Amino acid sequence: MERLEVAEKALAVAQAGLAKAKADRERAEQLRDDALADIADGTTRHEAARAEVAAGISAPLLALYDRIRTQTGTSGAAALRHRACQGCRIELYGNELAAVRNADPHEVLRCENCSRILVRTAESGL
Ligand SMILES: [Zn+2]
Repeated sequence: MERLEVAEKALAVAQAGLAKAKADRERAEQLRDDALADIADGTTRHEAARAEVAAGISAPLLALYDRIRTQTGTSGAAALRHRACQGCRIELYGNELAAVRNADPHEVLRCENCSRILVRTAESGL
């Protein structure tokens, strides 16, 4: 009789542990599903914002950007800040810097190191 009581207690403990584990799993699955929904929403918003920006860019420049992005697996463009490409962090100097300084503001320039399109701003240090 005593062995039966011990076994029933062990069974009750195991069943309680199983119930807690199931509840933990359900909670984790809900958190995962919520996170996936957030990611899907963010992706949708990001794609819409990108499409809006892309609509204002010339087709050849956008094609170049996409080609670089695909080939490098990174961004297709990077800011030029304080004479350094923010994509690869290499600072421009010498002839390369002079070429960037003297280039037409509308000319599309690319980083010689990482090939990204260099985006010149007031912070480019030119
Ligand atoms: Zn670069």
